[in-house]
Amino acid sequence: MRRTIIAGNWKMNKLFPEVEDFLFELSENLEAKDLGKIDVIICPPSLYMEIATDVAVDSKFYIGAQNVNDKDLGAYTGEISACMLDSMDIDYCIIGHSERREYYSETNEMINAKVKRLQENAIVPIICVGETLEQREQGITQDVILEQLNGAFKDIRIEENVIIAYEPVWAIGTGKTATPEQAQEVHFLIRNWIRENYSPLTADNLSILYGGSMKPANTAELLMQPDIDGGLIGGSSLDISQFTQMIDTALNIK
Ligand code: PEP
Repeated sequence: MRRTIIAGNWKMNKLFPEVEDFLFELSENLEAKDLGKIDVIICPPSLYMEIATDVAVDSKFYIGAQNVNDKDLGAYTGEISACMLDSMDIDYCIIGHSERREYYSETNEMINAKVKRLQENAIVPIICVGETLEQREQGITQDVILEQLNGAFKDIRIEENVIIAYEPVWAIGTGKTATPEQAQEVHFLIRNWIRENYSPLTADNLSILYGGSMKPANTAELLMQPDIDGGLIGGSSLDISQFTQMIDTALNIK
């Protein structure tokens, strides 16, 4: 069955004392809720993984990483591998975020290698795709998304769990959100691609998240779209009250 996912991407934000406060408060806020088909995920900076997994183990949320290296172990200073994440009981990992593609020159090939390492270690990849404003204005959004999907999923079997996040680059951190109709159109395209390249059942079961200036005020209209199964949330996931409101909205709608 398709899950609804509310995932917070903290990026390079929060100092240690704030991390503890947030996680304990989130744990408390979720304690009395029956989350049903909703999974809540927090992706903190990797430095905070240990405290995050310690709190999560007795709470109703999961921990994800924001990135992973495509090698297993070795002389790669500053990097973290999928088997290390697995050894810390990390369940999810964002890959191919547009900030990684833009600032760290990540290619579809690298993203594909990362999906493989994550699957080998039973970690669920949250694979980000999305077009820039220039590409949207050129009318090539669909081509860009399909190229990113073809690259990321090369030789990937999807019996294992995979999540896709559609994040229009022009909407990330800009305050501009895709309209529900714009987002639904791309989510439909992605689900259709999965249907054609895998199977109707896989397409039905796969969660496709929207990301890009999602906040309490626009969560309901986005989640009401038939192919939007949750959100990958940046800025609004840093604030416990906004993040909890968005979880509550998902609980009301899904
Ligand atoms: C993100 O970084 O994945 C994101 C969607 O950020 P924001 O919600 O701040 O636009």
